[in-house]
Amino acid sequence: MALPGAEYCAAMLAVWRLGWIAVPLSPSHPIGELTHAIREARVEIVFVTDNLLDKVADLGDLCPVRALRYIDDVPRDRDVASRDDLTNSPEPTPNDGALVIFTSGTTGAPKAALHTHASLAAQIKSLTKAWGWNGADKILHALPLNHVHGIVNAWMCAHAVGAEVTFCAKFSATQWWRVVVDDYEQTNRQTPTTIFMGVPTMYVRLIQAYDAVESEERRREMSAAASKLRLCVSGSAAMPTPVAKRWSELTNGKELLERYGATEIGMALSQPLRGRRVPGRVGHPLPGVRVKLVDGELRVKGPGVFGGYVGRPEATAACFDEDGYFLTGDSVEYDENLGYGIMGRTSVDIIKHGGYKLSALEIESAVLEHPGVGECAVCGVPDDVYGEIVGCVLAPGPGGSDCGLVSSPPPTAEALRAFLRDRLASYKAPGVVVVVDAVPRNAMGKVNKRSLVGLFGSK
Ligand code: ATP
Repeated sequence: MALPGAEYCAAMLAVWRLGWIAVPLSPSHPIGELTHAIREARVEIVFVTDNLLDKVADLGDLCPVRALRYIDDVPRDRDVASRDDLTNSPEPTPNDGALVIFTSGTTGAPKAALHTHASLAAQIKSLTKAWGWNGADKILHALPLNHVHGIVNAWMCAHAVGAEVTFCAKFSATQWWRVVVDDYEQTNRQTPTTIFMGVPTMYVRLIQAYDAVESEERRREMSAAASKLRLCVSGSAAMPTPVAKRWSELTNGKELLERYGATEIGMALSQPLRGRRVPGRVGHPLPGVRVKLVDGELRVKGPGVFGGYVGRPEATAACFDEDGYFLTGDSVEYDENLGYGIMGRTSVDIIKHGGYKLSALEIESAVLEHPGVGECAVCGVPDDVYGEIVGCVLAPGPGGSDCGLVSSPPPTAEALRAFLRDRLASYKAPGVVVVVDAVPRNAMGKVNKRSLVGLFGSK
């Protein structure tokens, strides 16, 4: 366990060189989650940088904990790998386990998904090709390194092509702008940062930070610098259309690229690098990925798909169909011209209201157009008459198409329904609204919808 940076990368590469399996742990996780991760992934030894030793002191009962140091300073402690172990160990084969990544825990306890060297290599090959990764790229990396988004899409792809990575230990919107603008100015506008990958909430924060800057001249410089990024990727959760539009406005017309994927399958669908990117849609299958729709659920097959959940053969078998396609649990729409659209998790984002099946993601996108809504999450709330009614948890603005420029008070349920009249069919409008200071999210900007239901009290 290490903060994002050179030590983290060196440790991962050393673990693979030794033929071991890496299990990235997050320094932001409380001890309970770390304990779950160590047990579930059957971790045998924890390496940690000196500055985080205190945090893991209590883990010593589960497995040995060792301080992580650069190779020149390796302690001659024989149960820790030394330079000789590295050089004498055989190269791992493609089908050897390489990486255990935990799912985000959106629908239950996080699951330990095991990827092999081959499945990681396939994911990297697919993404570097589709997104045109090259050695001249410079990525500003602000994602956690214990999820596919941060580790595979952002870091391993960069590593594979020899691109430059600048790690931010923790995402801060103001720091992001400072780094991007400084880089743009200091390189004489020639070789600025070229790639950024974020979850939708990061883009919301970046827009808010931009709009909070009073100097018009500074904002122009910020827009010029951000428009130099050749690729701004969004994923891990649905990108609301109003946010994508506002991002495009403040980057002089550059469009976000949205992609869809999951821990078990890597990235499956992506808007194109060149060509039309339809807001609210996630494009088409990436190279090497095969998909099919069964009763509206997306199923995925390909060399990037994982090997199984650690120690859980039954759970692994249950998530594949008879043709070997992975059952994503995501409800998806397909249109030949528009591509694929993610309607949400069948288990938590599809609201069964009377005879209708409603997409929480579609409703969230419409609610976010209200100028008094900064963020929101929509879920089904149990109801005696309809089975479920639409519940909306929202946090006050700034939001809407004027994102950040005009902010009005958060709407009541009635005012919200009136606002949505021209945007959504009336049965999709939220029946109940709860206003909170901030919508609770995990490190990947995801909302645990099941835990939200309690906010609505008994209906
Ligand atoms: P768990 O499996 O533990 O319940 P999780 O599904 O959130 O958590 P991840 O593998 O981290 O675990 O996330 C994958 C899920 O994220 C996808 O199945 C999908 O629901 C969602 N997702 C990813 N990208 C997008 C996107 N662009 N639009 C909408 N949803 C997305």
